[in-house]
Amino acid sequence: MIRIVDAEAVPVTFRLREGYRIAGASFQTAVNIILKVVTSDGRTGFGCAAPAEEVTGESADACRRACQDVLVPLLRGADAADRGGLDARARAAVPGAPAARAAVDIALCDLMAQRAGVPLARLLGMRRHRLPTSITLGIDDPDEVLRKAGRHVAEGFRILKVKIGEDWRADARLIHLLRGGFGSGIVLRADANQGYSEEEAGRFLAAVAGDDLELLEQPTAAADLAAMGRLQRVTPVPIMADESVRSPDEARTLVQTGAARLVNIKLMKCGGLLAGSEIAAITDAAGIGAMLGCMDESRIGIAAALHFALAGPNTERADLDGHLDLLDDVASGGVRIEAGYVVPDLDRPGLGVSVDL
Ligand SMILES: [Mg+2]
Repeated sequence: MIRIVDAEAVPVTFRLREGYRIAGASFQTAVNIILKVVTSDGRTGFGCAAPAEEVTGESADACRRACQDVLVPLLRGADAADRGGLDARARAAVPGAPAARAAVDIALCDLMAQRAGVPLARLLGMRRHRLPTSITLGIDDPDEVLRKAGRHVAEGFRILKVKIGEDWRADARLIHLLRGGFGSGIVLRADANQGYSEEEAGRFLAAVAGDDLELLEQPTAAADLAAMGRLQRVTPVPIMADESVRSPDEARTLVQTGAARLVNIKLMKCGGLLAGSEIAAITDAAGIGAMLGCMDESRIGIAAALHFALAGPNTERADLDGHLDLLDDVASGGVRIEAGYVVPDLDRPGLGVSVDL
């Protein structure tokens, strides 16, 4: 048995290069809890938790306490290969702290792939080598959004994810401006973060009917799947459930209600790669496509999400830009951005990240 001989959870506050606003919230810093797990065979695995109360349901402080007071003691002395057992015990101990539980599963996956001597994606059954990723534009003055979009397109990004949801008329004008400004060569996705009423979402969708929107993420309240389903039935634009799907159970409900054609899987929402795999399998069986999303998180979490997405049945979309805005990330390597694609480091086993705590 490979025993966990030490575990440590270190909270880190990252400054954001550029703060940003989404419907209902704005951010200048991001707290991650970095988890370091050392095993009896001399290996060290890393995980990270990126809590965001409005999405994962846990405050930064609750996440830190779940990591330090519950999960670290649970890990010490445990069998590092017992992912399923540790996941079940973590779920029972801290059901409301999915980001904290994700940190554990990410670190155990890093260790498992290191022991196998292969990149994590290969161990999971890699189907793709890289994925095009969107880069996110927060809610801002339209001139500022266009300026930032121009910078990202010049950097090579071909998918722009636009945060909307406060004013459907202004949002529709912004989508027109972006489509007019950048032409048909870029992909536009929009995320309302539950900001619209059903009527507003319907008006927005009608107003952008000619703008070739790839998808609209979480237009309306997470709990009101009926409203989202009514929108999906009348619009050709695929609706993507994000805040509505945080667990395999919620993925089953999504399938039963037919409320969206796409789902945003985030390791921090569902509690790690085990639950994420279940969500991918449930949605794939129903013909629902998946995107791997992220929070403001260290390269540790981004690398884990990428390796996961490279192997998943339906995880053909990526929104893995959360590390790009962090000043002073404690991790380096693992992933790189090349011409708008997010690319793993397949020359190193595990996640391939280096961490300086
Ligand atoms: Mg979202």
